[in-house]
Amino acid sequence: MIWMSTITTGWGVISMARIDHTFASRIEMFGGIDFTACYNCGHCTAVCPLVEENASFPRRMLRYTILGMEEDIQSSLDPWLCYYCGDCSETCPRQSNPGEIMMSLRRYLTSVYDWTGFSRRFYTSRKWEFGSIAAVAAVVVLLFALFLRPTADPSGLINADGGVKINSFVEGMSSETFVSVIEIGDWVMAAIVSFFLLSNIFNMYLKVVVRNRKVSPPLSLYVKEAWNLVYHFATQIKLSKCSDRTYWGLHWLLMSGYTIMFTMIVLFLPWFQVEKIHPIYHPQRFLGYYATFGLLLGLIVWSVQRIRKSGEKHRYSHSTDWLFLVMLFLTTLTGILVHIFRISGMVPQTYYTFVIHLAILVPMLVVEVPFSKWSHLAYRPFATYFYNLINSARMLEEKKKK
Ligand code: SF4
Ligand code: SF4
Repeated sequence: MIWMSTITTGWGVISMARIDHTFASRIEMFGGIDFTACYNCGHCTAVCPLVEENASFPRRMLRYTILGMEEDIQSSLDPWLCYYCGDCSETCPRQSNPGEIMMSLRRYLTSVYDWTGFSRRFYTSRKWEFGSIAAVAAVVVLLFALFLRPTADPSGLINADGGVKINSFVEGMSSETFVSVIEIGDWVMAAIVSFFLLSNIFNMYLKVVVRNRKVSPPLSLYVKEAWNLVYHFATQIKLSKCSDRTYWGLHWLLMSGYTIMFTMIVLFLPWFQVEKIHPIYHPQRFLGYYATFGLLLGLIVWSVQRIRKSGEKHRYSHSTDWLFLVMLFLTTLTGILVHIFRISGMVPQTYYTFVIHLAILVPMLVVEVPFSKWSHLAYRPFATYFYNLINSARMLEEKKKK
């Protein structure tokens, strides 16, 4: 039920706020747990290492959620400024799990920004979650079965160096054509993923900057603050302020490994996927090994921590958290197997594992990047960008008034 009401919070009177009493129960579907026990004491905000003057989370978000102030949450950047270190949940006297509510709100906001409605279904229905992954995987396998079947005579598929020619499997198709086909597929996939992700980010921009009409940043500020995007994406520097700095190191290792692998596969495929097996010191192999190491280490440590429920940030796992970890792990594992089979000269094993690898990789990218857990890699730097943009615009306006 929706009411218009005058609300008083720790930040003064908010007149005629729109409140929805069903909101708290809806947030439970995104993973929120026991948060209604919160009595607004503010310990969580006091211990949060990332709180700044204009971002008093997580208490404010807890309050808004319990009161059902959905529009205020939708126009807030606070959930994205939290990196889920878990410090607040450790100190909460009511065990209201403020860190988990921030995580749940990020899932909820991802579904709000997504205009297709797919993200909401993905987060709230396991049938949709697993069904969509299975459907995209089936399309990949079907495409190989129909158009990219292996040659009946594998005798010419071994290189002079003893390795398998990864691009010459397909009956009647040259190595160059095969790479071009996979590359075109890569570009089509990247275009689709980028379209959905960027349009969702635009939706986020409309909600947090345009409709939240507290300030109107001039164009020059958009350019001036743009460095935030690259800097925060590349360094994840805010996470380093949390008490557990190892977590930052692991997060960075995994993120850089993923970004390197994604860049090599999508932007430099003809350089990355070649017939010749390069010596171990070649940059192509070195970068591949670095990315694999970063991904594997991060995935193993986080999976073990989630299984053991060690620390507040691993105490609760939504099904989408596990799906993300499992799919990334299987993608990495099948990639390693393709490499081992290749350098060992094992022809059928290389081909079939390559198809399985793509049948896991493609749905992970198509479904996870724009609609689910992976999207936080884009939303976080944009949130920091919008946050700094709004603050700079506010300062500029105050300066003009003086
Ligand atoms: S979440 Fe816990 S620490 Fe934070 S305001 Fe509520 S009761 Fe206090
Ligand atoms: S989980 Fe960490 S970063 Fe997030 S609100 Fe709590 S203390 Fe702050």
